[in-house]
Amino acid sequence: MSDYNWCHGPECHTQATQSRIRGSGDNKVLRTIKINADTEWLRQSVFSHFCNQRCLMDFIRLHKDRIVALAPRREALETPIKVEKTKSQEYRMRYNGDNYERVPYTATRTTIKSVDNDNG
Ligand SMILES: [Zn+2]
Repeated sequence: MSDYNWCHGPECHTQATQSRIRGSGDNKVLRTIKINADTEWLRQSVFSHFCNQRCLMDFIRLHKDRIVALAPRREALETPIKVEKTKSQEYRMRYNGDNYERVPYTATRTTIKSVDNDNG
């Protein structure tokens, strides 16, 4: 048995592509894309229900308020971190009119480290 879904893009059936043409003679239509979701990776992908990025974004735009209402966020989430700053001597090149010369400067690298939250 084939495992398939119709693309959920609200405008999928209006996109003029050869892959959407169905019917015969003077009774032709553009039809929503049928997605074969036989593979595991596709079943777990958002593209098991959307034939392309446009259809996905059209759906999100149309249903944004209801999608957000599924899991409302009324305050910011935070992840505890440690920030390490390390300084190092670096060089940039500067043209002095005749040649390029190395000009030293002190660079600061910021590294964000995760905190092991399980051990307090
Ligand atoms: Zn589509």
